[in-house]
Amino acid sequence: AEMFGQLTSGLESAWNKLKGEEVLTKENIVEPMRDIRRALLEADVSLPVVRRFIQDVSDQAVGTALIRGVRPDQQLVKIVSDELVKLMGGEVSELVFSKTKPTVILLAGLQGVGKTTVSAKLALYLKKLGKSCMLIAGDVYRPAAIEQLVILGERVVGVPVYVAGTDVKPAEIARQGLAEAKKKNVEVVIMDTAGRLQIDKAMMDELKDVKKVLNPTEVLLVVDAMTGQEAAALVTSFNVEIGITGAILTKLDGDSRGGAALSVKEVSGKPIKLVGRGERMEDLEPFYPDRMAGRILG
Ligand code: GDP
Repeated sequence: AEMFGQLTSGLESAWNKLKGEEVLTKENIVEPMRDIRRALLEADVSLPVVRRFIQDVSDQAVGTALIRGVRPDQQLVKIVSDELVKLMGGEVSELVFSKTKPTVILLAGLQGVGKTTVSAKLALYLKKLGKSCMLIAGDVYRPAAIEQLVILGERVVGVPVYVAGTDVKPAEIARQGLAEAKKKNVEVVIMDTAGRLQIDKAMMDELKDVKKVLNPTEVLLVVDAMTGQEAAALVTSFNVEIGITGAILTKLDGDSRGGAALSVKEVSGKPIKLVGRGERMEDLEPFYPDRMAGRILG
């Protein structure tokens, strides 16, 4: 199934119920709103987010004046479209660079979400923007991840990767790596960190220590688009514990139902900045809320 496929057809049934109506009324939007609600819940959008969304759309739908030549179903599509864009943060959220070198980007996230891959992809992305980069390998619990980062970073992308081994504490690796980045005079340094299968205190404590050392410009939470309903709790927890500046959504090329894409901004107040759409190094791009809404509406 194509991502959002189910959501798209769920929403279509809402518009269809308004065919033949003259205006939007309190009465005739009841059924369509029920369809929208169901479609969003089935797409794994978090419940509080769905509730607020439905409330906002309903308020506007009933308050909307009749526009000559625009059918009620088209009016509802427009309202939902605008609200979806707003829900996902409205404008594109650009990466922030610090005024003094280097800009530090700290990547966090659970194991297997695509953090290591994203680290290298991000280095390539920044390299293409003309910025010199360095990577710091901080996934001390998975020697294979360090090896992978060295291969992707140095051989594929062509940026230096700082490796300190696996018996050094992440905060110490961060300290050494940052010193190296300053010596090399690079513009951006990206640190990959160790995830866990689920949120635990040791991971959060490690991340806090690393953050203290790095004083990063960006703390980006890498979220697998397939996460589903738990995405809201996950993002909230990372944001409360370590404070994030945004998220990177990976595996958008998969058949996820889209809930994470729609929940992240609303639950954390932090935008999705970038999305990963495949396993190739080139598959990382900015997150465009309007294009995403367009895809949802089909
Ligand atoms: P980490 O444990 O968070 O560091 O995750 P990895 O970077 O090792 O990625 C885990 C798996 O997901 C690997 O097989 C990657 O190739 C794959 N992966 C990462 N990003 C994407 C993506 O955007 N799309 C797809 N299809 N696979 C991805």
